[in-house]
Amino acid sequence: MPKCMCERAFFDTRTARKENITTHENSASERIIAQTEKCCAHNYASKHVVVTEGSGARVKDADGREYFDMLSAYSALNFGHRHPEIVAAAEEQLGKITLTSRAFYSELLGEFCAALCTLTGKGMALPMNTGAEAVETALKTARRWGAFVKGVPEGRQRVICCENNFHGRTITVVSMSTDQSARRGYSPFTPGFDVIPYGDAEALAAAVTPDTVAFLFEPIQGEAGIIVPPEGYLKEVRRICSEKGILMIADEVQTGFARTGDMFACDHEGVTPDVYVLGKALGGGIMPVSAVCADEDILGVFEPGSHGSTFGGNPLACAVALKAMEIVRRDDYPRMAREKGELFMSELRSIENDEIKDIRGRGLLIGVEFSVPAAPYVARLAEEGILAKETHERTIRFAPPVNIPIEELNEAIVRIKAAFGK
Ligand SMILES: *Cc1c(COP(=O)(O)O)cnc(C)c1O
Repeated sequence: MPKCMCERAFFDTRTARKENITTHENSASERIIAQTEKCCAHNYASKHVVVTEGSGARVKDADGREYFDMLSAYSALNFGHRHPEIVAAAEEQLGKITLTSRAFYSELLGEFCAALCTLTGKGMALPMNTGAEAVETALKTARRWGAFVKGVPEGRQRVICCENNFHGRTITVVSMSTDQSARRGYSPFTPGFDVIPYGDAEALAAAVTPDTVAFLFEPIQGEAGIIVPPEGYLKEVRRICSEKGILMIADEVQTGFARTGDMFACDHEGVTPDVYVLGKALGGGIMPVSAVCADEDILGVFEPGSHGSTFGGNPLACAVALKAMEIVRRDDYPRMAREKGELFMSELRSIENDEIKDIRGRGLLIGVEFSVPAAPYVARLAEEGILAKETHERTIRFAPPVNIPIEELNEAIVRIKAAFGK
């Protein structure tokens, strides 16, 4: 048996990452980072902060320093860390049953799907766990719908997607990617995708062929750097998809559940996609929960044996997601994101720093693009007690928990100004 290399390999965390956040020598953080870098595959360049505790929008690191979490696990923490009601729902379910598999029925699955249907206005839901799985499920749905309903000969169905998309990490999903770091070394890729520029409705109309079954897109591109499409784009996409008889599939994994100031980012233009892909915040910040929602004439293409997931729709997932969906509506999270987003955005715009090139976003999904690499600014933010991370080198994403108390948001803004000011 090969022994774990972890005991022997030496990994110097100080030289491994340039321009990272400084940790103090021999601190608890540094020891944890060193062990992690030895034994965990290096598929992330994590910032040098070891988060050990969290409550609401606040987290603590292994050395007792406090921060505001302004990334919120890429919008999976719209409800903040350990929302007391979601934790209580999880604890109650832990005392009953956590997993049955879909070999049997469970008590909450129907209620969970019904709540998803109410929230999205759709007739059916198909539960999965991660966002990537939900995207895969949407692609399977589109291909089957194309073959069984639209009448595209099987093997010829094509899906249109966008440049600089982010839909997850599986081989099929990265087959759609235009980001070389996400693709290198992973070929052969899944065929059947056509890539068009984002935000360009004419390009969509021109790309549709008789074999096209769907258009998959993000209503705001998150990982690409908070790219907001031109006003009217979503409406045009809706019109083109209806006219050409293809499915409009909105990946709302990051934008859904109030993040952008509406329940779903498509609501901004009053548009309803044929298929919603949901994840991240649906799990209430506790566990991975994802789903695809659509009407029966679309999701009805699945029969027993055609698709599945051992953990998809498990009782614990249903319990936390049900509570999350209850809270997001009851406490009007979309309004919170809208109001706090407006305040946040205008405060950011008041910062004088000629290295800030652009500030954009909607609701509490905000990108600050610099004309220089943003990592040193990320390090300064951490020194001020603000956790954030750059995406695509030059854009820092701010996406605090939607329920961050206003006084904490104001305090965070003061610190961001200190880090960004000159
Ligand atoms: C995060 C994300 C995914 C993938 O979700 P995972 O849970 O990481 O698999 C898919 N689509 C979008 C838009 C995302 O932001």
